[in-house]
Amino acid sequence: MSRPTPSLRESLGLTLLPSSFAQLPPAMHERVAPTPVSRPALIRINDALAAELQLPLAALGADVLASLFSGNVLPAGAAPIAMGYAGHQFGGFVPQLGDGRAILLGEAQAGDGRRYDIQLKGSGRTRYSRRGDGRAALGPVLREYVVSEAMHALGIPTTRALAAVTTGETVQRELPLPGAIFTRVAASHVRVGTFEFAATLPDGQPLRALVGHVIERLYPSARTEASPALALLRGVVERQASLVARWMHVGFIHGVMNTDNMALSGETIDFGPCAFMDAYDPATVFSAIDTQGRYAYGNQPPIAQWNLARLAETLLPLLDPDPERAVSLAEDMLAHFATCFRERWLWGLRAKLGLTRAEEGDLALGERFLTLLQQQHVDFTLAFRRLCEAADAPASLSVRSLFEAPEGFDAWAVDWRRRLDAEGVPAVDRAQAMRYANPLYIPRNHLVEEAIAAAQGQGDFGPFAELVEVLSRPFDGQPGRERHALPPQPDQRVFRTYCGT
Ligand code: AMP
Ligand code: MG
Repeated sequence: MSRPTPSLRESLGLTLLPSSFAQLPPAMHERVAPTPVSRPALIRINDALAAELQLPLAALGADVLASLFSGNVLPAGAAPIAMGYAGHQFGGFVPQLGDGRAILLGEAQAGDGRRYDIQLKGSGRTRYSRRGDGRAALGPVLREYVVSEAMHALGIPTTRALAAVTTGETVQRELPLPGAIFTRVAASHVRVGTFEFAATLPDGQPLRALVGHVIERLYPSARTEASPALALLRGVVERQASLVARWMHVGFIHGVMNTDNMALSGETIDFGPCAFMDAYDPATVFSAIDTQGRYAYGNQPPIAQWNLARLAETLLPLLDPDPERAVSLAEDMLAHFATCFRERWLWGLRAKLGLTRAEEGDLALGERFLTLLQQQHVDFTLAFRRLCEAADAPASLSVRSLFEAPEGFDAWAVDWRRRLDAEGVPAVDRAQAMRYANPLYIPRNHLVEEAIAAAQGQGDFGPFAELVEVLSRPFDGQPGRERHALPPQPDQRVFRTYCGT
């Protein structure tokens, strides 16, 4: 089948490095160019990120940027590929998934010397598209832009948003929708599913090459360890434990924690039906396809561990020549995940409560507060943020007023204050530190939906731009942006989110 090809432009002054993933065996990827689109238009470019990546985009006009980030024009050095991967989706193994609508253009080197992947998402069909059209709709592109940049501003490892464009074409989902392309930046797009895919290929060589690639790129200190594969597994376990704990601290629900959506880099990746919880409840699920609640807020830690077990299985032959010993090493690492997660979760919970020292009853104190939130359907983000005020001004009633039956809160607050008083930290300093552990602004689902509706319905990107702006400073009160800090009114609540695939 013949397909239109993008033109190559050497004259833009923009040069990418070739993807290091392309050096892996050919069975692991496909060389494929984006399929050009009819009328690309720029929605937004992330100038700050472009500068960090040393990409000279500031001098380019909106039309040139739209051509570049739609894939109509390839920058010099680009040698585009689609990556192969497998994955466990909702627990069932799918031997071949892969980039069905994403194309890795190349890499950029940041000022600190680190290399980052530049990937288009929604850029046309590839060998891995199966029945899909290779395209993305505007809504999911805006959602990924908003939420991934918000995660970054919250200090949580994540892929980033470099650009978003509309294509001028329609994509057919349940309804016809405007098409768009998202440009994603990641320390690496290698997933647990990439290892599962390599492990299915004959003779073990692709898997060994992949291990070498990931160590080189993401875990260079593993190179000199007695067992580099074990050191790699330990590194991934620790980054994932930390990542999922950070999600839990801000009420983030990934929504589709399939193994193909878990990155070896420890970055949050693949923002599909993701959402932030409003009222605290560990059983919260938004994703329309997660009918069993497998990926509910409170299930995320055990699911991460389950996914890491799938990664560990692929690495068994490299962990030890004796299969039993290999299994035992892998099991130790999975137990290590549980320990790391508990430590990291508790560490962040203390910070949220304003505690600077570690004491025996801290976890119980934090859990009692969470139980009160759950029983009385209190907004998670707002409750912790208002707790900062209560730390500063004991007479403040703002957090207390969130509870329908405040006596429960009062009893808890007596113990909390006793615990705070034992630390001797000045109240102003404590409250200030707490404000950096308890964001005021998160990407509230109803506001994300509102921004998408305005863009999709009226071509008005104002609410989207404002959301990106507010969320770039999630810890600072921003006068005039009060409504961005509020939970949804009953009629604004969003119960379901969609992958948009
Ligand atoms: P996701 O739900 O975005 O993680 O995607 C799961 C798998 O489906 C990946 O292999 C995607 O590349 C593929 N996929 C999702 N949407 C499309 C689409 N519109 N066209 C082709 N492949 C797709
Ligand atoms: Mg995915």
